[in-house]
Formats: sequence, structure tokens, C-alpha cells
Amino acid sequence: MADRIVSFFKNLKIGRSLKVRLFIIIFLMGIIPSIIMLVGILENYEDRAVNVRISDTQTQLKIIANHLITYNYLQDASSEVINAELEQLSNLYNGRTIIVNGNLKVVKDTYGISEGKTIISEEVIRCMKGEGTANYDAVNGFIEITIPIIETISDKMAAGDMPAGTEVVRGVMLTSISTDNIVTTMEILNRKALIIEILMVFCIFAIALLLAQILIRPFDRVSKAINEVNEGYTDDPISVPDYLETEHIVDAFNSLLGRMQALDASRQDFVANVSHELKTPITSVKVLAESLLAQEDVPAELYREFMVDISEEIEREDKIINDLLALVKLDKAAAELNISSVDINQLTEIILKRLRPIARKRNVEVVLISKREIIAEVDEVKLSLILTNLVENAIKYNREQGTVEVTLDADHQFFTIQVTDTGIGIPEESLSHIYERFYRVDKSHSREIGGTGLGLAITRNAVLLHRGSIKVESTEGEGTTFLVKIPLTRVLA
Ligand code: ADP
Repeated sequence: MADRIVSFFKNLKIGRSLKVRLFIIIFLMGIIPSIIMLVGILENYEDRAVNVRISDTQTQLKIIANHLITYNYLQDASSEVINAELEQLSNLYNGRTIIVNGNLKVVKDTYGISEGKTIISEEVIRCMKGEGTANYDAVNGFIEITIPIIETISDKMAAGDMPAGTEVVRGVMLTSISTDNIVTTMEILNRKALIIEILMVFCIFAIALLLAQILIRPFDRVSKAINEVNEGYTDDPISVPDYLETEHIVDAFNSLLGRMQALDASRQDFVANVSHELKTPITSVKVLAESLLAQEDVPAELYREFMVDISEEIEREDKIINDLLALVKLDKAAAELNISSVDINQLTEIILKRLRPIARKRNVEVVLISKREIIAEVDEVKLSLILTNLVENAIKYNREQGTVEVTLDADHQFFTIQVTDTGIGIPEESLSHIYERFYRVDKSHSREIGGTGLGLAITRNAVLLHRGSIKVESTEGEGTTFLVKIPLTRVLA
């Protein structure tokens, strides 16, 4: 049942509002101590008023008790002086006084009801032993006080078993006094307290509402700012430094925004680049075709020559599209590595064999240095992409009579593929850009030799998918070394 009530409030939308929670906390923190204080003060007042009344009455009763002995009242209750004193006391406190002698007989009752009767009450008996009592009956609104009437034995009265100075209880004074006026005062105070409490509830309610509103405002500002970005009014980073918490939320949002903007910009760049790259061969084909059409009686050789050019451009377009498809596949295939145990030395030999004809065309020598046998858990197709791109680049950007050295090595954790060439090198300022899509140090030169600017982007993606690393060192005019390091066994994310 309790669980159900808790879950009901949890599901209630209003119960999940920080503003409502703050309001309730502030309200309770304001109202509970104030009510406790008021109730405490009232209780304290009542105790104190009763105690003062008791001690005042006891003092007066003691004085009268002395007089009772002096006037020998217990034997003869006709003393005018004492009767007047008792009357005055009863009137003052709206009470009743009964005087009981040593035989527990009532010698005087200011109400005149019990005279001559015997009283055997616990209080009277206890008082006879010299111990006065005082009891407050809050329900019926009176205080009952007993005072022993004590006689001090004088020299004259001294006897063998009672030396002078001995105190003897001769009787008891039993007084009930009304606490009506205390109760009336309490009622007035209670009424005033209630008014104060109601006023306090209103004030604290208003203060709690205001404070909750003010405290929550920075969070409202955060959601307003985020909404503005969401609705596209602004792209600027937002700032709500009011609280550390809002600052953290806003910082997190800003970095997300930054990432999204960077992603958006790179997507736009990519689309622009793709369009441009795809358009270039088509434009060439169009120009070639149109120039053929513009001429009449074109000789067959010219046709053939132009057709070869057109076919080359189409081949280029095909290569760009294939590279793009490979890149897109790598981008989304993080979990789709087709892992198997691959003999890296054998795979490298096959790839080099495939690339040697291109190398021969450029008079470039390709050398394989296998430092040890390597069997690794990799995706064979993607590793082929890495090797092909690196070795092909090393051949393409080499000089006449240059060499390409492919070195395979491994330790107990990683294997390395190092591709070193003696080619044109990469300028220092371009080193950080070569992995970007469509980036080419020398656009026209790269195009001439059939580059798309996508090879290294593909290579890097494939290396990262294997949780490996790729590094490059290059000196312009002397050559370039790419070093790829990949774990021998599959590292799970
Ligand atoms: P591309 O298809 O143009 O070769 P890549 O992404 O493979 O595209 O390479 C990007 C650029 O990096 C190349 O255009 C080239 O300028 C430079 N580059 C890559 N490899 C080498 C290398 N071995 N030597 C010199 N420059 C290189």
C-alpha cells in the first residue's frame, strides 16, 4: 500500500517538479520550527503560571499555619483573625481551605460543608508526616495544596521525649484553588497564537513560493536557451553561469552543440567535395563529347583518341565512386569486422605481386622485408585496403628509379607494417591533413596519377577499426614512411 502511494506520487508529474519540491521543503522548514516554538512558549507559560501560583499560595498558607498554632486554632476554631485570613485567602484564589487537626478531623472548612468530619486522603496522611504536597489538575482546572501545621516545642513545653526546638505536626491545611484565570489567559494566548500561526502560514507560503520561483529560474533560463538553439534562432553557445550545476549542464550542451556543428560542417564539406569530385570527370566527358560533335567529318583517329580520354574519365569516376562506397562501408561497419586468422606475410606478398606492374611502369622497385612470420586476427579485406593504399601511394608519389620498402615485424602484442618510399615527400604543413577526405597535397599532380584523395581516409578508418594506430614521417624531396601498428589479437571494445 505504502509502495503504491509512493509510486503514485512519483508518477505524478507535479511530484517530479524541482520547483514543487523546493517549495515544500522551504515551506516545511519555515512552518515546523515556528509552530514548535509557539506551542513550546504556550506550554512553558502554563507551567510557569501554575508554579508561581503554587509557591505564592504555599507561602501564604505557611504564614497562616503559624498563626493557627499561635491562636491555638486547632483546639478552638473561633478566632476572628484567623477566620478573616482564611476568608481572604479563599476569596483571593477563589478556593476552599480545610483545616484538619491531628486526629484527621476537620476543624474548619471555608465552604462550611465538612466541619466535624474525618478526612483520610493520601495527601493528608502524607502531610501529617511533615511532607506538604501540591498537585495540579489541568483537566478540572484547580490546584490542591497541603501544608503541615507545625508547632515548634518551646522551652516551657519541653519534656523528656520532646526537647525544646522539636517540630511537631499538629494538623494539616488543605487548600484547593481554582486556576480559572490561568486557563482564561491560556485561552486568550491560544487564540492569539492561532492568529499568528495563520498569518505565519500565509507569509511562509508566499516566501516559499517566491524562493522556489527564484531558485528555479536559472534552470528555466537553461531550457529557454536550449529551446532557442533547437528552434534555430541562434547557433551561439549558451551561457547560464548562475549555479555550478547550470554551468555544467550548459557546458555539456555547448560541447554537444560544438560537436554537432563540426559534424554538420564536415558533412557539408564532404557533400560539396563529393559533388565537385564527381562533377570533374563528367565535365571532361561533356567537353570531349561536345568538341567531337561540334566538328564535322572528324577523322576516325581523333574519335578514337577522344574516346580513350572519355573512357579514362569514366574509369576515374568509377574509382571515386568505389572509394566512396568503401569509405561509407568502413564508417558504419564498426561492429562488422569479419575477423579471421590471416597470414600477414602471405597477404602482403599477394598484394605486392598485384601492384608490381604499376611499379614497373614507373621504374620503382618494391622490396618486402619480413622480419618474422605473422599470423594475426584481422579482417582480411580491410587489411588488404590498408596495404594496397599505402604501397600504391608509395609507388605513385615516388621518383623514377625509386624504391618502396615494406617491412613486416611483430612483438608479442602488435604487428607493424612499415612502408618507406624514396619519393617526393609530404610538406610539414600538410602532414596533419593527409587523412582528410579528398585532401591532396598537389591536386593536379594527384589527379594526373589517378588519386581520389580518399585512399588515406580509408586506410586510417580501417586501422582504427582494428584498434590500431597509423603514423607518418616525411621529408620533402627525400621520402615518406608510414608506420601501421595493429594488435595481433582482436581487442574487444
Ligand atoms: P590520393 O588518392 O590522392 O593518393 P590519399 O588519401 O591516398 O589520396 O593521399 C592523400 C594525399 O597525401 C595525396 O594526394 C598525396 O598528396 C599525399 N601522399 C600520400 N601518400 C604519400 C606518399 N607516400 N608520398 C608523398 N605524398 C603522399
